[in-house]
Amino acid sequence: MAIATVNPADGRTVEVFDPLDEAAVERRLARAQSAFESWRLTTFAHRAELMHRAAELLDQANDKVARTMTLEMGKPLAQARAEAAKCAKAMRWYADRAEALLADEHPAREDVQDSGGVSAFVRYRPLGPVLAVMPWNFPFWQVVRFAAPALMAGNVGLLKHASNVPRTALALEELFARAGFPQGCFQTLLIGSSAVEAVIRDERIAAVTLTGSEGAGRSVAAVAGDEIKKTVLELGGSDPFLVLASADVAAAAERAVTARVQNNGQSCIAAKRFVVHADVYEEFLSAFTARMRALTVGDPAAEGTEVGPVATEQGRTDLEELVADAVGHGASVECGGGRPDDPALAGGWYYLPTVLTGVTPRMRIHREEAFGPVATVYRVADLDEAIAVANDSPFGLSSNVWTTDDADRERCVRDLRAGGVFFNGMTASHPAFPFGGVKRSGYGRELSGHGIREFCNVTTVWSG
Ligand code: NAP
Repeated sequence: MAIATVNPADGRTVEVFDPLDEAAVERRLARAQSAFESWRLTTFAHRAELMHRAAELLDQANDKVARTMTLEMGKPLAQARAEAAKCAKAMRWYADRAEALLADEHPAREDVQDSGGVSAFVRYRPLGPVLAVMPWNFPFWQVVRFAAPALMAGNVGLLKHASNVPRTALALEELFARAGFPQGCFQTLLIGSSAVEAVIRDERIAAVTLTGSEGAGRSVAAVAGDEIKKTVLELGGSDPFLVLASADVAAAAERAVTARVQNNGQSCIAAKRFVVHADVYEEFLSAFTARMRALTVGDPAAEGTEVGPVATEQGRTDLEELVADAVGHGASVECGGGRPDDPALAGGWYYLPTVLTGVTPRMRIHREEAFGPVATVYRVADLDEAIAVANDSPFGLSSNVWTTDDADRERCVRDLRAGGVFFNGMTASHPAFPFGGVKRSGYGRELSGHGIREFCNVTTVWSG
């Protein structure tokens, strides 16, 4: 895949970039190693000052950064602005809390005595240069949620971003440099995915974090495993959205639409499978379908657009094939199910918000991730069946449940196999809460104290 900015709204190539050659990659690796040796010795206060400065610069550049994201991957401009603002917030969150999150831990006195020592504590020390392999869908957020904690912990970062968001990748490097982070603390590597293995194998790389598809996760983790290097994997999701008998159905249907079509339907934590109790099924389906049909599909740079194009032509083809497979095996299309008729949108990679019912386990969409504005709605007889359908997926990123029944809540917390259970709302990340999944959605956690400690050397310091 070429490293290029291609506008998904019209298919036009805006700019093509030459990938870095081996010598250029080598220079950046050397810079990262040398930066780490001095950065790891800096104080939290110094790092926080620079991180606050980066947040300030990002707020000032909010509109410019947002327009770059929209140009490269097609998210509606308002959502791109919100993403940039959320990044600044996360930077400040870690700037203000990293020191406390990484404070020394002291075991109980009786345990220290039991070990035969006079003192013992645990210190979180940085690991070194961390390679981040990142996707295009939240091109600023995915990077910042890695970079802010990593830099605050005393690590340095190397970013291999998705090949279709090179301008965003360079904007991130520039942001940290302008904020005053020393040269080598945060660098972008404009390289294709075939060049990633050599970087992981380089002895200067201490660890790897990857957000992306299952296939990319498997390749990167295999190489890192071979090198015995720590990985965090944030992979795909097909999150269930349960609407139980006691739910506020109108509110659930309204939120369900946002949960499905945010970011043009291309979010790992988007609700993708709607599992609805028979008692409220008709009411939910009719309200949900009406809202999905009424969404404004169009140019993502135009104010008021709710759903823009899918980010790549291949992405739209994948979606069309998933829907065709489902319909071919008997699914019903409640709305959408194809490209918009509007000739003004013909050049872009648009796909109409779509609702499918009658989905069965033999259809690919039952088990695969639909990365675009396509929802499946299932009718279930009771909570047992709702949980069984929800868990019948290779993924386990997050889950959403609409209910006012306390016993149902407890069952869901106990039984849903996912990294999150969000009640009466939709899954959203926040710096204070751990983020990550189980099963094929990956392992490890980002954000919160859990995220910042992933790339630390958890060191036992014992004195006799
Ligand atoms: P992708 O194709 O897997 O790409 C992600 C990154 O991995 C890109 O930088 C890509 O580089 C690189 N890559 C791909 N194959 C590789 C390989 N064999 N070796 C090394 N690097 C490789 O995913 P995407 O299409 O950008 O993103 C969509 C996927 O990400 C969805 O499955 C979505 O659910 C998931 N996602 C997960 C989370 C989460 O937090 N769990 C968040 C967002 C997205 P190139 O672009 O150069 O190929």
